Amino acid sequence: MSIETAPSASLQDRFGRTIDYVRLSVTDRCDFRCVYCMAEDMTFVPRAQVLTLEEMGRLARVLVALGVKRIRLTGGEPLVRRDVAQLVHNIGALPGLRELNMTTNGARLDRFAATLKDGGLDRINISLDSLDPERFRQLTRTGDLKQVLAGIEAARSAGFKRIKLNSVILRGRNHDEVPALVDFALEKGLDISFIEEMPLGQITEHDRALEFVSSEELREELSERLTLVPLAEKTGGPSRYWQVPGSDSRIGFISPHSQNFCHLCNRVRVTAEGRMLLCLGHEHSVDLRAVLRAHPTDDAPLRQAIIGAMDIKPERHDFNLAPGEQLVRFMNMTGG
Ligand code: SAM
Ligand code: SF4
Repeated sequence: MSIETAPSASLQDRFGRTIDYVRLSVTDRCDFRCVYCMAEDMTFVPRAQVLTLEEMGRLARVLVALGVKRIRLTGGEPLVRRDVAQLVHNIGALPGLRELNMTTNGARLDRFAATLKDGGLDRINISLDSLDPERFRQLTRTGDLKQVLAGIEAARSAGFKRIKLNSVILRGRNHDEVPALVDFALEKGLDISFIEEMPLGQITEHDRALEFVSSEELREELSERLTLVPLAEKTGGPSRYWQVPGSDSRIGFISPHSQNFCHLCNRVRVTAEGRMLLCLGHEHSVDLRAVLRAHPTDDAPLRQAIIGAMDIKPERHDFNLAPGEQLVRFMNMTGG
């Protein structure tokens, strides 16, 4: 096998953007069925089509050698994949990788947090849309709030720094809980980001256009209760952050609709089947699994496929909330 040594390159697209961040979906499966993310009755990809642990490790190694500095493991729910701790251990050890992070629903974190920390996971984002057990169950369809709160405590005890909560806010569902979620984050010393719902996958449970709440609206409402000071610091991502004086917690807003951040885009996504998606809002993609499997001992074709993929990265997404205009791909395919 041709082993990569030192990072020698950087990935550039046609618009001069440097791509150094990859979100790797380790499974499309999940133990929750969040109403904005999945249909109640989902068909998942057959296991043979999902990248093996070795294939994911090899892909990560080649990406890092091409200049990728940050990898986020996501899904589906990464912690439902049995060998995820081993994957963290393997990727966490790659020289040249600055940060290995994970986004999780938190339900299994009480079991995994310490192992993940020891294995080299740097940061963790935990999704939390409600602090009311009934409502939490309705939004996730299968989730148990107690379990997630235990997961958050386990992550804190394991010593993860800057744990971030992610909340998708829907009008009439959990909009009224924004202050309580912020208070919870401040009390626990966590960061929190509020996410505008994105039109990924055809859902019938609610009308996305009716339940949409803009980040701007949320921030104005919060400003009536709290002093919010904008942070100048750039995180290299789509979140814009504010801080409450006297607290270390950051309050972020991710606004794909109301605030287009495409010109700063530094990322690509890889689905659990090894499809590299160049933009969350488009179908432009390259099948890396085919290359991985056709060339099991030679990394050169994989390297070329990744470099070539940069040429089809779209300039921007064009999200549209109208029912006929939504992408057929669900968020669990790509991991957000
Ligand atoms: N299962 C993990 C979790 O829930 O954190 C990781 C995968 S999940 C797809 C990643 C993030 O995407 C979560 O924070 C979730 O709330 C968010 N998400 C899912 N569907 C979304 C949608 N349609 N619009 C905006 N955010 C969405
Ligand atoms: Fe599962 Fe995460 Fe999607 Fe919820 S948002 S259904 S936890 S993948």
